[in-house]
Amino acid sequence: MTNQIVSTRAAKVIARCRELARISDAPGETTRLFLSPKTRDAHTLLTWWMRQGGLEARTDDAGNLRAVRRSAKADAPTLVLFSHIDTVPNAGAFDGPLGVLLGLAAIEELGATPLPFHLELIAFSEEEGVRFGFPFLSSLAVTGQLSAEQLARTDSAGISVEQALRDFGLDPDRIAQSCPLTPNTFAALEVHIEQGPVLESDNASLAVVETIVGQSRLNLTFEGQANHAGTTPMPLRHDALAAAAQWIVEVERYASDHTQLVATVGRIEALPGATNVIPGTTHLTLDVRHPKDESRHAAVAHLLTKAEAAGALRGVSVRAKLLAEQKAVPMDRALTVHLHQAAERTGHDAKPMFSGAGHDAMILAPHVPTTMLFVRSPGGLSHHPGESVREEDVEAALATVLNLLVHLKPHAKH
Ligand SMILES: [Zn+2]
Repeated sequence: MTNQIVSTRAAKVIARCRELARISDAPGETTRLFLSPKTRDAHTLLTWWMRQGGLEARTDDAGNLRAVRRSAKADAPTLVLFSHIDTVPNAGAFDGPLGVLLGLAAIEELGATPLPFHLELIAFSEEEGVRFGFPFLSSLAVTGQLSAEQLARTDSAGISVEQALRDFGLDPDRIAQSCPLTPNTFAALEVHIEQGPVLESDNASLAVVETIVGQSRLNLTFEGQANHAGTTPMPLRHDALAAAAQWIVEVERYASDHTQLVATVGRIEALPGATNVIPGTTHLTLDVRHPKDESRHAAVAHLLTKAEAAGALRGVSVRAKLLAEQKAVPMDRALTVHLHQAAERTGHDAKPMFSGAGHDAMILAPHVPTTMLFVRSPGGLSHHPGESVREEDVEAALATVLNLLVHLKPHAKH
């Protein structure tokens, strides 16, 4: 702990995250999958805290827990504070719940302070996508994008999303009525741990997310010729693994030379995979991310050219298949500026940053002005039981959010 004064309100947020983390599908760890029996217990606890804070709470038909703090003006617009409460298996206590419980703490701190807008706090039920194999189910539901095909997807036990909703006591036929964002929602803010090492290496508490990066995922196959490892002289080989290896080093070098670009070969398989056989076929994956779509496209094109060049040196052909592509999503510029100013007014230098990971904010952003505040992740650690936050960072985030709420004018032009 540093010698900074930390507030008990931040300690309370952290204690609540840790208490929520003890509600787990698997004893002794934190695993809370979408609509699991323990999710109901998590909802019960959260609802209790929300009601203690003077909020009305309801569960919508996608399983999202939603609480409202009403403005005196009934027809006032709405600002949404949100994050998610589902987890990956054997998770930490803060990825998701921090944003929900910090939002609740901000509302509690406001007390009777009048605001010219309603505040809605949403605990999204499904962001990670572990149970049904696709992420952002909640934010897709609230933006009217959850498809019939997605509702029909099944988990490992063969239960569909639709059935899981019914088993939880929800009505999937009412998603279109009960889930959409409140009409006249003018802003949405997600507070989230950074899940990376940048803030820690900069010795900073907070960052304001300006863009969620775009992403390309590809499969590549290097096709050479398998042959005898003893009888085939080096100049006469068509070694698919050696070509791939040269290319992987080029991927690393190219990304290292380009600011903000990250590129990863995360999986490799060499066939036939025997000690005494020259590899004839190599399958690889490529993941490329950048906050600017043009730069990402240029990187992918360059790396594919380099793959062919590495192959050509050895008479190895290369095939590439684009598996998935996600455009970069900018956060709302005006709201992001307001968030920077709020951090500044509370004495914090929140650096601008891009998010290398996907978040619900990128699903909401095309529909409502949205921004994100990142909180330092000690050790850069996330999706791990050792995930943590520092009390002074939580206090900095809470002070920033409160400052934003009391200064934001809903009718100011965004
Ligand atoms: Zn998260």
